[in-house]
Amino acid sequence: MLVVMKNDASETQVQAVIQEIEKMGYRGIPMPGIERTAVCIVGNKGPVEDAVLLTLDGVKETIRVTKPYKLVSRETQPEATIITIGDVRIGDGKPVLMAGPCAVESEEQALTIAHEVKEHGAQVFRGGAFKPMTSPYSFQGLGEDGLKILDKVRRETGLLIITEATDHTNIEVVEQYADIIQIGARNMHNYSLLRRAGQTTKPVLLKRSFAATIEELLMSAEYIMSGGNTRVILCERGIRTFADNTRNTLDLSAIPAIKEVSHLPILVDPSHAAGRRDYVIPLSKGAIAVGADGLLVEVHHDPPHALSDGMQSLYPEQFAELTWEIKNLKRW
Ligand code: PEP
Ligand code: MN
Repeated sequence: MLVVMKNDASETQVQAVIQEIEKMGYRGIPMPGIERTAVCIVGNKGPVEDAVLLTLDGVKETIRVTKPYKLVSRETQPEATIITIGDVRIGDGKPVLMAGPCAVESEEQALTIAHEVKEHGAQVFRGGAFKPMTSPYSFQGLGEDGLKILDKVRRETGLLIITEATDHTNIEVVEQYADIIQIGARNMHNYSLLRRAGQTTKPVLLKRSFAATIEELLMSAEYIMSGGNTRVILCERGIRTFADNTRNTLDLSAIPAIKEVSHLPILVDPSHAAGRRDYVIPLSKGAIAVGADGLLVEVHHDPPHALSDGMQSLYPEQFAELTWEIKNLKRW
């Protein structure tokens, strides 16, 4: 249930509502909005009795939240969330470009690619230091040494850094270096990691698992938000279907579907969806056309020698073409 406060309700009145909710044995989470503040009740198993709440000063009305997710829902917050990190605003209508290699391989590799993607319009540099690989024999990432390289990339280029935490132990070190913490598709159901991500002060980009429904993705985002971290970015990266022409099937319908029910920004990763670089530009155009708030794209200066995902990594000049193409979609 949502307790909607009057436009002129004071902070003391909001606190009184939260206290009353706690007396009932639930938690009240304030959701300050542009129009009004609402207090979202979480922790209830069935319907909440609202008679006392309606008598409190500053309360306008109560609204039953019909979805299993609450804090991520548009019922709770009608206006879109905009996440501001430095000069970058995610979710304000202008697509944000995050680009870089699948994995950080060396300082030279990361800096070379970072300078290229920055020149061609990226605002955020991506690169994994902890890699969740399908095979235990594949390159697993440079770990903290990779994070130190990413720190250097930020200092030399001014790009923000997104990098993945793969479990609730390495998120400790990742949050010290990252501007945005990525939680990968394989970890969308890793509830101890999601809970820990709810406690970080850094924004979190949560990828949809290749076998998750939209509701399951939103429930995972709810884990992070219910821990107190409201800065969650969703990412569609392709789901598994019977189609075998691509690595995964990019579910573009997820973008308008999520925008309808959630206020959180959503990005598209065309690289892991396609699995091949020649589809990345067309899929990126589709993603921006259907309303994605940005793209997470793999780019490598020498894809044939990349230690992971070379097949789907764009050459820098292809990334320049991608930027040009999507700018021509006139959402800028
Ligand atoms: C990645 O971004 O490099 C990655 C591993 O992606 P996903 O979790 O979508 O497979
Ligand atoms: Mn990858």
